[in-house]
Amino acid sequence: MSDYLVGKFVPSWGEGIAKTITFIVTEDCNLRCKYCYILNKSSNKKMTFDVAKKQIDQFLNNDHVPEMVIVDFIGGEPLLEIDLIDKICDYFKIKSFQLDKPCWWNYRFNIGTNGTMYLVDRVQKFLKKKPGEGVSGNYIGWNKRKA
Ligand code: SF4
Repeated sequence: MSDYLVGKFVPSWGEGIAKTITFIVTEDCNLRCKYCYILNKSSNKKMTFDVAKKQIDQFLNNDHVPEMVIVDFIGGEPLLEIDLIDKICDYFKIKSFQLDKPCWWNYRFNIGTNGTMYLVDRVQKFLKKKPGEGVSGNYIGWNKRKA
């Protein structure tokens, strides 16, 4: 956690090796910033778990899965869909382990958030499942890395 002090750059992770898989879990947001790039934020468009599973299966079921993987969650405000994110994280971990892909022990989860839901109970409950969780700017991130 000392790596994530205010005014300090977050150390890069997996530079040149890690590949990112990004999930737009929702287009909805609890804010209405004028400059936002997402129109119709109240549209309630969100990803289903089935779509996320298919994306992970496709990503992991090939011969060129990178050694290190960043699983990135964006929106809208992704913390609105924290239960879905929880399921996707668990599925990624289980599937990469079952398929014996090197990234099963070398992954990073990132959530790009506006920060307003950080203290909500179900968000805190989710974060407590994740050792090494850190907050940086508008990102929550944590790693699991082979020693
Ligand atoms: S917090 Fe982000 S997603 Fe939400 S309205 Fe503002 S710019 Fe858009």
